Amino acid sequence: MNAPAENRFDDASFTLHGAGVSGGIAIGYAHLVSSARLEVAHYEVAPGDIETEIRRFEDAIRHVRGELIQMQAGVANSAPAEIGAFLNVHRMILDDAHLSQVPRDLIRSRRCNAEWALVQQMDALVAQFEEIEDVYLRERKNDIVQVVERVLKAMLGSANAPVAPTHEENVIVVAHDLSPADMMLFKQHQFAGFVTDLGGVTSHTAIVARSLNIPAIVGLHHARGLVRENELLIVDGREGVLIVNPNEQILTEYRLRQDELEIERQKLRRLRTTPAKTLDGAAVELHANIELPQDIDDVREAGATGIGLFRSEFLFLNRSDLPGEDEQFEAYRQVAQAMEGRPVTIRTLDLGADKSIETSHQPGPNPALGLRAIRFCLAEPLMFLTQLRAILRASTHGKIRLLIPMLAHQHEIEQTFTAIAQAKASLDEQGIPYDQAIEVGGMVEIPAAALALGVFVRKLDFLSIGTNDLIQYTLAIDRTDDTVSHLYDPMHPAVLQLVANTIRTANRAGKPVAVCGEMAGDLAATRLLLGLGLRQFSMHPAQLLAIKQQVLRTNLPEVKALAARILRAGNPDKTRTLLEKLNA
Ligand code: PEP
Ligand code: MG
Repeated sequence: MNAPAENRFDDASFTLHGAGVSGGIAIGYAHLVSSARLEVAHYEVAPGDIETEIRRFEDAIRHVRGELIQMQAGVANSAPAEIGAFLNVHRMILDDAHLSQVPRDLIRSRRCNAEWALVQQMDALVAQFEEIEDVYLRERKNDIVQVVERVLKAMLGSANAPVAPTHEENVIVVAHDLSPADMMLFKQHQFAGFVTDLGGVTSHTAIVARSLNIPAIVGLHHARGLVRENELLIVDGREGVLIVNPNEQILTEYRLRQDELEIERQKLRRLRTTPAKTLDGAAVELHANIELPQDIDDVREAGATGIGLFRSEFLFLNRSDLPGEDEQFEAYRQVAQAMEGRPVTIRTLDLGADKSIETSHQPGPNPALGLRAIRFCLAEPLMFLTQLRAILRASTHGKIRLLIPMLAHQHEIEQTFTAIAQAKASLDEQGIPYDQAIEVGGMVEIPAAALALGVFVRKLDFLSIGTNDLIQYTLAIDRTDDTVSHLYDPMHPAVLQLVANTIRTANRAGKPVAVCGEMAGDLAATRLLLGLGLRQFSMHPAQLLAIKQQVLRTNLPEVKALAARILRAGNPDKTRTLLEKLNA
């Protein structure tokens, strides 16, 4: 939990260490952002203000009821039936006297603020639900929490909203935790940087942060509790260091480093149109990862030769309904057209785990191992069909490829092909054109897939290695959990064996293979991956030119020999020494 701000000496400078997730240095003023539930204040209300406080509570309940009714009306006919049912459950919870009446009594009897009364009652209800033996009923406690969070947000209103845009470029967001959906909202703003207490370096929160191309640090543990609103901060996103209240000397030093980094960035820009080729002439494809069509400008700016990963599920976040077929088609068409015939690899929905939408599917006891990605899509055929039709329709507007996440079983590949065939047949019936030869690839991100690749290379047109999940599942470390992020190691011999095996097998079978996890944008891994035979990388546009520079400086025969030695090394010290030699 957060350390209270009282635990620090006034205005003294101090430093916190976390994991840098995106490069650069930001200097700006702290803006503390709250997750509604964590940060509820407790204060006494004067007897004369009790009725006003109760009215504030009632207004919030009314507001949320209106929101839920509106959401129910807006649920598309094609949406899974569970969404309507889940909204019904939330309305019932909201209208139940336990939530709508008891907090009023608490405000009166304890003379406390409405938020506090509501959270007290929520905690009491959650404790009661935790006693229930029936798993289904027990899990309803999550619905209570979600409804309460809605009411809290309604009460906190604009007090909790991001700062005015005029100040954004000087603002550093300080939060305890941010979801990937929260991060997507930041895309509409221009903050100088952000830091969080929780989160691992390959969590989707960190990945989106990287796509914002602003300095960021996760896993700082106590920043949200120690930093005060408007305090001067330095965020060093390369080293994962946060300096609070820096003195003049430190500030001058970091401003200088900022200038140096800007000069480096300007130099890299000159490589934008240079073809990515190694010193000995091997061509390398450098593709971009995107979350939304609006990211295309950055892709062009970086001179990417294709989109290697469009994380389509981000179209589904921060909304109460599902995007329909036409809306999705429009997003995919926009990207395909903007890329003017260069490949656009659209990954079908990877929902679940840390990216969830509001359906009745409860996250399950272990979401990373639960109904995620292709598993979720196969369990929701209508939703999947809608997406597949939208992608296929867009395929006449450019070179679109389909990429399927989280495959582990042959039957999942087969079921996916059946779903694609159904989508094609339904379009045929309506005479709607699509690219008949659209390529279908699979992500290799579960160790089982990397170990039993035969069926993957036989059935799929191309492979893309998702190192973020491959590392998570190989090393059994939750990528969102900062307490185990020190165990995250792309250079672990087991990980390298799986990556090398996938590249080797795909190359032998003549099937294109890419890496689209964060490892593709990690300068320390570029030469190793080239040496292992990789010729396609996909990463956030912000990393692309630095990786290109590394490719241009690499001599393949030299790195091949060293990469082979690293693969045989099997011990971390030797691996480190050889890597240093490789990257020297
Ligand atoms: C991966 O797992 O490496 C990947 C690219 O997909 P995501 O990070 O979206 O899970
Ligand atoms: Mg993944």
